[in-house]
Amino acid sequence: MATPENKLAFDGGWEYAPAPESTDHISIKKRYELFIDGEFVKPESGKYFETINPATEERLSRVAEASAADVDKAVKAARTAYAKVWSKMKPAERGKYIYRIARIMQERAREFATIESLDGGKPIRESRDIDIPLAAAHFFYYAGWADKLEYAFPGRRPKPLGVAGQIIPWNFPLLMAAWKIAPALACGNTVVIKPAETTPLTAMKLAEVIADAGLPPGVVNIVTGAGKTGADIVQHPGIDKIAFTGSTEVGRIIQKALAGTRKSYTLELGGKAANIIFADAALDQAVEGIVNGIFFNQGHVCCAGSRLLVQESVADEVIRRLKDRMATLRVGNPLDKNTDIGAINSRQQLETIQKYLKIGKEEGAEVYQSAARLPKKGFFCKPTLFTGVSQSNRVVQEEIFGPVLAVQTFRTFNEAIAKANNTPYGLSGGVWTDKGAKIFKMTQDIRAGVIWANTFNKFDPTSPFGGYKESGVGREGGLHGLDAYLRLEA
Ligand code: ADP
Repeated sequence: MATPENKLAFDGGWEYAPAPESTDHISIKKRYELFIDGEFVKPESGKYFETINPATEERLSRVAEASAADVDKAVKAARTAYAKVWSKMKPAERGKYIYRIARIMQERAREFATIESLDGGKPIRESRDIDIPLAAAHFFYYAGWADKLEYAFPGRRPKPLGVAGQIIPWNFPLLMAAWKIAPALACGNTVVIKPAETTPLTAMKLAEVIADAGLPPGVVNIVTGAGKTGADIVQHPGIDKIAFTGSTEVGRIIQKALAGTRKSYTLELGGKAANIIFADAALDQAVEGIVNGIFFNQGHVCCAGSRLLVQESVADEVIRRLKDRMATLRVGNPLDKNTDIGAINSRQQLETIQKYLKIGKEEGAEVYQSAARLPKKGFFCKPTLFTGVSQSNRVVQEEIFGPVLAVQTFRTFNEAIAKANNTPYGLSGGVWTDKGAKIFKMTQDIRAGVIWANTFNKFDPTSPFGGYKESGVGREGGLHGLDAYLRLEA
C-alpha cells in the first residue's frame, strides 16, 4: 500500500542509478563434474542437473548428479587419504594447507561473491561484505588451531573421527562449506561434502581452490546432487560423522537414519527467532536491526529475526518507523550494489513463502507489504509484515524462510520471555534495551543458542553457534566447533 512516506521513496528523488557488479571477471563453466580424489570426474550415471540464476531464471551451468556409486568412490578416497596421509601429517603442515585455502579464497573474493549472488540470489553487498570474508575467516581461524589442539583441550588427547560426511543448505553456500570443512580438516579428518542443489557453483569454485592449494587428493571430496545424494552420504557405512545444516524436517530424517549407528553427528536446523524491543531501547537502531535481521538476505537465514516482540507502549511508534524503513528497501537485481533484498533462492521457496502469506491472511493477520516494484522475471517477494497475530498462529510458530516478519506485543518482561520461548525452535534471539541487567536476564531466560543484544546477525569464527530444541544438536564455530570433529581421549 502506498503511504505518503513510501510514495516519496518511489516518486521522489530517491531513485539510484543502477550500480551492478560486473560479471566479466568471472568464469562459469558450462558443466561441472564431481571433485573426487583430487580430480574432476564424470558421474557414473552420466546425469547432470541445471543450476539457474533465480533473479532471471536463466541457466548458469549444468552440474553432475552423484549417485550412490559416486558417493562410495568419494568416501573410499576420503578413507584412503585419511589413513595414509592426512591423519599422519604433522599438524603444523595441515595448518599450512588450510591457510593456503584461506589466502586463495581472499584473493578470489570478488569472483566468489559475484558467483554466490548469481547462483543464490543474495545481494552482492551481503556476499561481498559478509559471506566471502567470513568464509575465509573460518579457514584462517581453524588453520591456527591445527597444531594447538592439545591446548584447546588440556589434559586430553584429541583424535580425529575419520571421514566426515557434510550436507549443507543454499542460504550461505560458501560460508556453510567453510563452517564444515575448516574445523574438520584442522582436526585431521577428511571430508565428503555436498552443497545444496540450487547453489552448487561456489562449492565447485572451492574445489578449484582446493586443487590449486595442492591439498593431497581425497582430503576434500565435493559431490553435487539433491536429497538422494545427501541420503547416500548419511547411509554410507564408511562415514564416521555427519554434519548437516538444513531444515528440521530433513534433520529428523537424518537423525532417524543415524539412530543406532556408531556415527556421531551435529545438526543445525530451523529457527523462529524473536527480536524483542523494550520501550527503553534506541528505537531507530532497533528498527534497523529488525530490518537487517529479516529483510536483508530475503529472510533466508535460519537465525533470521522472523518474529518481532515489541513492548506495547512503543508498538505503534516502532511499527510506523518500520513501515517507513520498509518503504525505502529496494528489491531487485542481486548484483546491484544498491539492492537490499535480492531474489528468493528458488521457485519452490517462493511458493512456500506465498503459501505462508495465504495462511497468515486466513489466520486473520493484517498484512502490510511495501510498495516496492518487483522485477518481471525471477523469484522475488516484497518485504511483508504480519500484525494482529497470536501465539498459536502458524505464521508465528513455523519457519517461513522469507522476508516476512510476524509482529506481536508484550507488556512485561516475563510475557516477552514466555512468548519468545513459545515455539518449537531455539536457535537465536535478539534483545533491544538500554539496560544491561535486562540483557543479562534475557540471555539466561531465552532458550536459544545465540542472543544478540542491540545488534543482530553478527558472526565470528571464534563464537559457537547452534540450537536448542528442534533447532538442532551440537555446536559449530569456536572451540566447540573443534570438539565436534574430535574424540577426546583421557
Ligand atoms: P532447505 O529447506 O533449507 O532447502 P533441506 O533440508 O531441504 O533445506 O536441504 C538442505 C540440504 O539437505 C541440501 O543439501 C539437500 O539436498 C539435502 N537433503 C535433502 N533431503 C535430504 C535427505 N533425505 N537426506 C540427506 N540430505 C538431504
